[in-house]
This record gives sequence, structure tokens and C-alpha cells, in this order.
Amino acid sequence: MKEGNKKLYSPVVIKEIIEKYGFKFSKSLGQNFLIDGNVIDNIIEGSNIGADDGIIEIGPGIGTLTQKLCESAGKVIAIELDNNLLPILEETLEGYNNVEVIHGDVLKVDLNQLIKEKLEGRKVKVVANLPYYITTPIIMKLLEENLNIDKIVVMVQKEVALRMKAVPGGKDYGALSVAVQYYSEPKIIVDVPKNVFMPKPNVDSAVIMLDVYKESHIKVKDKKLFFNIVKAAFGKRRKTLLNALSSGIELKKEEVLAALEKSGIDPTRRGETLDITEFARLSDEIYDRMNNY
Ligand code: SAM
Repeated sequence: MKEGNKKLYSPVVIKEIIEKYGFKFSKSLGQNFLIDGNVIDNIIEGSNIGADDGIIEIGPGIGTLTQKLCESAGKVIAIELDNNLLPILEETLEGYNNVEVIHGDVLKVDLNQLIKEKLEGRKVKVVANLPYYITTPIIMKLLEENLNIDKIVVMVQKEVALRMKAVPGGKDYGALSVAVQYYSEPKIIVDVPKNVFMPKPNVDSAVIMLDVYKESHIKVKDKKLFFNIVKAAFGKRRKTLLNALSSGIELKKEEVLAALEKSGIDPTRRGETLDITEFARLSDEIYDRMNNY
């Protein structure tokens, strides 16, 4: 039987394939392949894929999720860094005419150009079981590059999923929560145990969906400054906002104090208690002071 017709999530099949190709799992490339058909179905259902949709998959591995994506979407672009997987993908995706595998590092690929060239006119979704060692840089790249992406549905470490959707007050709330929630509405689709991967990772996972806003619900005068303030506030989590910001941004302490007071934010509060709209208000006050308005 051809690899394309086999259940690629079956551990027996995976072992057969890796033996045939002499493939060795690379821990440093975050290679943990899915071995559970239900989890793959959860990802596909959660992505709500239309027949004309364009999908970007990051890290197809041996093509397990890729095959299912090809069966539901109009076109699939799969970006894989490990060249040892390319001959395997050639075989497992042989029967599909709507997929293109791109050999490269997702962090270096020009996604804007790729979407323009290969997925123009389609609703674009990113669907993937991510390599965990670069989860945050991938998510930030997808959100920050103004890519006109509709949804991101990805398997990540559970701890990272909780950080993305955290609200003020708890230990999970941080700069990643604010950044993700600035650009999108996060929702955890399903918690995923360690034993559905081969090899089994050390951490639990979750599939998270980020529903990307066409335009952010947060309006700020200077986005870069807003994120610098968020970074400074969480960089010194134990300090009061007044102290964290006075040492973290280019503004005198008395000006920071005045901006906090004008925004109605108690200067003795810690950054981790501020919600995204308070950060936005504060950022605009600080912007005015930096620009002498
Ligand atoms: N999609 C497959 C599955 O679910 O069984 C494999 C997922 S595995 C967690 C992550 C995949 O990302 C691996 O195939 C790995 O080689 C690939 N990868 C790692 N770093 C990458 C990068 N910088 N760019 C593109 N792919 C990468």
C-alpha cells in the first residue's frame, strides 16, 4: 500500500516509514508527531475550513495533518525545515494536487509574499502542530506582520496556551497575553495529553485558536510605544508600575507619575494588574508627554 493511503497517525505506520527512510527524530527541531486521529479531527473541526480556504501549515512532519488539510481546503502550503522529511512528504502527499511543500525556516520565509503569490484571493488560515522551541516567535510573526490571516489554529504547550488567553491578576498573565489579545481573540479548543505524540514530549499540550481581528479593538497613538510599555511593565513584575516604567522607558519619573495619574491608574499597582485597555490609555498619556502635547 502506498504511504498516501495509510493511516499516518498509526505508530506502526510511522515506524515503518522512518525505518524505510532511515529518518531520525530531531529533538532540537521539536519533532513530536501526532499519533491520534481524534486530535487531528479536533484540529480540523476547530479550524472550520471552507472548500476554498488557503492553509499555511508550519512543520508538516510526515504529512499526517497535511493530508487532512488537503482533503478539506482549497490549497495547502506546508513549510518544513528538515530536509530529511522532504522525500517522505513527497510520497505521503503524492495523491494530493492542492499542496505545495516549501523547504525553509518559517521564521525566515516572507509570508506576505507567499500569501500573495500562492494564496491570493483565498481566506487564509494557519493550522499546525507547532515546533514548541519557537512557539512565541512564530505566533508573534504571524500576528505582527499584518498578514491578513483569518484564523490561527495551533497545537502548543499547554502552559503557553494558558498564557495567551490569561487575564490580569494571575501568574500566567504577561506580555504574551497582551500581545495575543491585542491582535486576536484566543480560545482553547482542546487539551491534549502527552501520550498522543511520538516521541512523547515532557509537557502537556493544547490546541488554541486565535481569531485574528481585521482591525485591533485597541486603538493606540503609537503601537511600538504601547508594546514597549507592556514589556517594561512585565519586565520588572515585582516592582510598582511607577518604578518599572521609570527605569524601563525614556521618560522622567515625575512624567511617568503624571501620566499614570492622568490615566486614573494608581502608580503603586503592578503591571500584571493592568488590563489591555488600561495599558492603551497609559500608553497614549505617555505618548503625549514624550511628544510635549
Ligand atoms: N505536523 C506533524 C505532526 O503533527 O505530526 C509534525 C509536527 S512537529 C511538532 C513540528 C514540525 O516542525 C517538525 O516536522 C519539524 O521538523 C518542523 N520544524 C521545526 N522547526 C521549523 C522551522 N523553523 N520552520 C519550519 N518547520 C520547522
